[in-house]
This record gives sequence, structure tokens and C-alpha cells, in this order.
Amino acid sequence: MAHDEAMRVRPWRMIERRKSRQIHVGPVPVGGDAPISVQTMTNTLTSDAQATIRQIQAIEEAGADIVRVSCPDEESTAALSEIVRGVSIPIVADIHFHYKRGIEAAKAGAACLRINPGNIGGKERVREVVQAAKDHGCSIRIGVNGGSLERHLLEQYGEPCPEAMVASALYHADMLEEHDFREYKISVKASDVFLTVAAYQALSEATDAPLHLGVTEAGGRRIGTVKSSIGMGNLLWAGIGDTIRVSLSDDPVEEVRVGFDMLKSLNLRSRGVNVISCPSCARQGFEVIDTVRVLEERLAHIAEPITLSIIGCVVNGPGEAAYTDLGFTGGGKDSGMLYVSGKPSAKVSNAEMIERIVDMVEQKAEAMRAASAEPDADRDAAKTAAE
Ligand code: SF4
Repeated sequence: MAHDEAMRVRPWRMIERRKSRQIHVGPVPVGGDAPISVQTMTNTLTSDAQATIRQIQAIEEAGADIVRVSCPDEESTAALSEIVRGVSIPIVADIHFHYKRGIEAAKAGAACLRINPGNIGGKERVREVVQAAKDHGCSIRIGVNGGSLERHLLEQYGEPCPEAMVASALYHADMLEEHDFREYKISVKASDVFLTVAAYQALSEATDAPLHLGVTEAGGRRIGTVKSSIGMGNLLWAGIGDTIRVSLSDDPVEEVRVGFDMLKSLNLRSRGVNVISCPSCARQGFEVIDTVRVLEERLAHIAEPITLSIIGCVVNGPGEAAYTDLGFTGGGKDSGMLYVSGKPSAKVSNAEMIERIVDMVEQKAEAMRAASAEPDADRDAAKTAAE
């Protein structure tokens, strides 16, 4: 069903995105009608270019659109050009206070600078950084953080609050606009979910700049995922947010996976296999929990959007399978029913089921890849014929 038709039939699924202006982080558009991009941040020593490249390659493989790299010292910006050459996704250089690192990072090929112009020591330095960004085609992210608001704003507002965070964002944005620089996006992160959501809501009305969403210092894998999903999920559902970073005290690859899962849950992106599975109970016809764990691992490399239902018994199995590309429902004696495009397809033994499902998902992904490459093939064939 076409997207517009689907929304007419199920308007309760509609998310109307806030209209932001579009900027670019390297080749990745951010804002406007661009897909919401997913980003993460490396945690290797940036000065160790090879380790950082390896980590970014794993991040790319997980599907990230953009990656941020800390540049705390000159050794880091010196390593940056080698890192840029060794990876495919655009790099955001994370700079705090040291305007020279910003200029070095722009020269080294960073696609975006995360820098707050109000914190780099005066108008002349802002002018130099903006000039370097213009010269090297960098965008800028203004990154306001509830834990490090400017002193004058804390004095004015008494504590970190949504108004102070928006004032901080606009204070930095004005400095860029003074130099006729509009290729910037903004984040107003806090570790408190309420403060984060209220700050972004207020900011979304105060500017048309694209917004980078995040709940900062959200914690370890479980609590960080929960807090991020509540905070960012709330905003994304309201149409706010153009690029996201989930912050976890964990592997950056995990941040990317959680980011995509969040967007998938809201139908805002559709990358990889979306597994719908039941929690299992005494009725299960096979080991649902172990099966799902193995399938998630074995199918992590699939980028094509495919839905897969893995349900323990016939109570919910056929109903869920009716709306997924592939499905398996337990229930027979050591066997279950495989569903394809919502229809029962074959009885499969529990012992064979994982291999069979992995095989079918891989085949479907291959067919989808081939179908999406066809227009190119047609164009190439037409070009060859014309030559
Ligand atoms: S689908 Fe069946 S096995 Fe799964 S939780 Fe529900 S009743 Fe239990």
C-alpha cells in the first residue's frame, strides 16, 4: 500500500514532521524531508587512527549515517585526515573550547564541527572558525548541554531549565548568523528526560534549524535505552528531530542499533530485520527466547527492511504472521508453520527452523537488493545501447 494510502486508512500512525531547513553533513542531508539520520560517537583514542578507523567501520556496518569523533588535542586532529580517508561515512569533529582544533579539523576533512561559538574565546576566533567551516564545506552543530550552561544564563535563570537551554542555543546560533553562516543544527541535551523533552519542544518553536536529538549521559545499555526511548521517542512521535544519537555507556554499535530500533518502532526508518516475537509461556511450541536471540545475531547483517514474526503458539502466531513478510508459529509436535507474506507456507521441524528462516530472509534480502539495483542496470543498458 502506498504511504499516503496507508496513512489515510490508519491515520493514527501518522507522524507529521516539523518543517526544518536542510543542511548537510558531508553527503548526508539533515533536516527538511531527509530521512532521520542515525549517529554515534567513537570511544577509541582519536590519535590512534587505525583503532578509530576499525571502530568506525564496525559502526558503518551497523548502518550509521554519521559518526562523531572527539578532538581534544592536536594529535587527534593530526590523525583525522587519515581517519577520514579510511572510512565512508561523514565525520563530525567534537571540539570543546579550543578554536584551533576546530580549524585543524575542518582542514583535515571533518564534515561537521561540533563546537559552541560562545565558548571559544571571542569574536575573532568565531570568525576564524566560521571561515574555516565555509572554506572546507563543514556544517556546525551547536551542542547545548544542561550540565555546562554558560554562567550568565545560570545566573539569569537560576538553574538549568528549558528556557536557559533555548537561550543558550540561540546565543550560539546568533554568533554564527552574524557571519552569515546558516549550515548549523542544534542539540539541547540533558540527562534528565523531562528537561530534555521540554527544551527540544521549546527550541523547535524558536528556530527552523534542524535538530539533533539526544538524552545525554543516559546510562548503561538497559536504562540508557529506556530513557532515550522515552525522551527521544516522545519528541520523534511529535515530529521533532532530524538526526539522533542514543548515548549509552556501551559499544557505539549498540547505540546505532538502538537508534534504528527506535526509528523503526515509529515507522520513521526501516532498516534491517524487524523481529516481532512473543515473550513465550507454557504454551510455546519451541524455545522462543533462544530462537529470537540466535536469529537476531544471525540476521544482524541484513540491511533490507524485512518483518519477521516468531511466535510460540497459535494463540497469536497466525494473526501476527498475517502482517509480516516471514513468520514462524509453533504448535505442532516438534514443528511449526512457516508463513510467507502472511500465508501458511510449509510445516517445518523445530530443529530445522532457524536455518530455514535465515535462508529465506537472506534470499528475500538478495531479491530486494537486486530489485533496487534494476533501475541502475536498465540505465546502464540504455547507456551502452546508445553508445
Ligand atoms: S503467543 Fe503463545 S507461546 Fe507466545 S506468549 Fe502468547 S500464548 Fe504464550
